[in-house]
Amino acid sequence: MIQAGPRANVTHACRGPVAASSTDCYPDRRMRIAVLSDIHSNLVALDAVLAHAGPVDAVWHLGDVVGYGPDPDGVVARLVEVGAIGVLGNHDAAALGGPEIAWFNPDARSAAAWTRDRISGTTAAWLTEQPVTRVVEGFSLVHGSPRDPLREYVTTPEIARANLDYLTTTYGFHGHTHVPVAFVERGARIALVRAVDAASLSLSRDRALVNPGSVGQPRDGDPRASYATLDTAAATVSWHRVAYDVTAVQSAMHAVRLPPRLAERLAFGM
Ligand code: ZN
Repeated sequence: MIQAGPRANVTHACRGPVAASSTDCYPDRRMRIAVLSDIHSNLVALDAVLAHAGPVDAVWHLGDVVGYGPDPDGVVARLVEVGAIGVLGNHDAAALGGPEIAWFNPDARSAAAWTRDRISGTTAAWLTEQPVTRVVEGFSLVHGSPRDPLREYVTTPEIARANLDYLTTTYGFHGHTHVPVAFVERGARIALVRAVDAASLSLSRDRALVNPGSVGQPRDGDPRASYATLDTAAATVSWHRVAYDVTAVQSAMHAVRLPPRLAERLAFGM
């Protein structure tokens, strides 16, 4: 259940414990932003999400754009087309030849090697441009966690608490676990907000780490693509689930001989 706090007074002023520069300030204009993570080369899911989101002022991605799925170039081309900005994930780093591939299980390693060998120079160049962390419109973006962006999984209130002190903004978006959730500081404790479809969270002055879930490979038992929208004027984050043609993606994965288990799991959202 959502344990949302008091509705924020949007003051259009710099918020948060550290406002080191103007880029750390909460935006003073209304923006509706789609926040996408762990797309994992799943263009069918990405297109379903973009269609569901409709017109937005910005698209932010939280890394793991590639890996696992059958269409890395198509996903990157679509993100370029919609002007998405974001950060590098560990699977993106592996696709660029980074050492991250050594940490993967055999199926993930096989898919990462396939991705590395297949991506175009354009895709590789775009991935190379992605920073490990980014602050945009007063929000921090990372893939894994603020203190260890390419490796750490934020899965518990304890891990979230340790990471809040690494934020230079009040709010951070992260992915990596493929589970939609938020961790919100409530005085001495951290509230874990389980994000079911159509859930929303009012952003208050409390620090928070927000995970939109995974577009291309959800792992919370719901096979539908998961993403979030941020409304900066209402100061709310809303989560969404979108059905897409899983069978088509599975067929594409079989056709290029990606590990069968990676295709099968899409049907179960695990
Ligand atoms: Zn991922």
